[in-house]
Amino acid sequence: MNIFIKSATAAILAVTATAATAQERFITIGTGGQTGVYYVVGQSICRLVNRGTSEHNLKCTAPSTGGSIANINAISAGDMDMGVAQSDWLYHAYNGSSEFEGKQVEKLRAVFSVHGEPFTVVARADAGAESFDDLFGKRVNVGNPGSGQRATMEVVLNAMGKSMDDFVLASELKPAEQSAALGDNKVDAIVYTVGHPNGSIQEATSTVEAKILPVTGEAIDTLVDENPYYAKATIPGGMYAGTDEDVETFGVKATFVTSADVPEDVVYTVVQAVFENFDRFKGLHPAFENLAEEDMISAGLSAPLHPGAEKYYRERGWIE
Ligand code: GLU
Repeated sequence: MNIFIKSATAAILAVTATAATAQERFITIGTGGQTGVYYVVGQSICRLVNRGTSEHNLKCTAPSTGGSIANINAISAGDMDMGVAQSDWLYHAYNGSSEFEGKQVEKLRAVFSVHGEPFTVVARADAGAESFDDLFGKRVNVGNPGSGQRATMEVVLNAMGKSMDDFVLASELKPAEQSAALGDNKVDAIVYTVGHPNGSIQEATSTVEAKILPVTGEAIDTLVDENPYYAKATIPGGMYAGTDEDVETFGVKATFVTSADVPEDVVYTVVQAVFENFDRFKGLHPAFENLAEEDMISAGLSAPLHPGAEKYYRERGWIE
């Protein structure tokens, strides 16, 4: 090889190496079932991030997952960079309580909260149930392991002095399967902690005569009084077929979380992509319609803010 070709090759190698270091960095956001709202949260964030890939080299993907608990576990294991999780499970994971006792995820960091998620119970009209308590002795889809609703369902049962055994069937179908199961009379009721309106509950209430049941009573009052991450919630009447009146229940917030291991500039870039295109973001799902920046940077965040998010909020003058 003559000198010229040698140095040309070296130059090409050098260029390739520089291109490789400036190369795209992939980040993954854990979401939920494809018919839920978390999936749209993740997809929307990625869409906004990926519009700027040529400037910041970040490339974002948001695959469907089992939900809150699965996302927190994936972040804890370093398999995912970010994820969406219910505020109750963010709290427990960061503090090592409840489901996360002995499995504390100290490096969990809050980025922002998103929409509210009422604990939503839909029953077939022919099940003859008027409220959550009427479901004992019936067939209920309690949710897939790894989902937020499944874990919150256990908390609710516990608070009521009941267990899964009080249902004649406690099935574990994923959100994407449960509406069809309700329509096919495989279960009497389904449970989903989810933002409204959404396509999944729409499907459940339009394929069969069904209604949303209230989840109220002493046990729920105590849960809400004693835990900062729960609040009373109302599912507006008229949103879904079969439910014309407002329905009282309780709920959590969807939160967007990450790990202290994720670099500051990465989180900063993601947060910037969302808040600099905020109207566009809000237009991507009807459950995002009423989002407001000041709530999103404080409500439901029971882990410390990630420094990358904090930096951006400080620059915008939203925090001190
Ligand atoms: N809250 C549910 C969960 O934590 C997911 C809801 C959704 O996908 O929108 O698993």
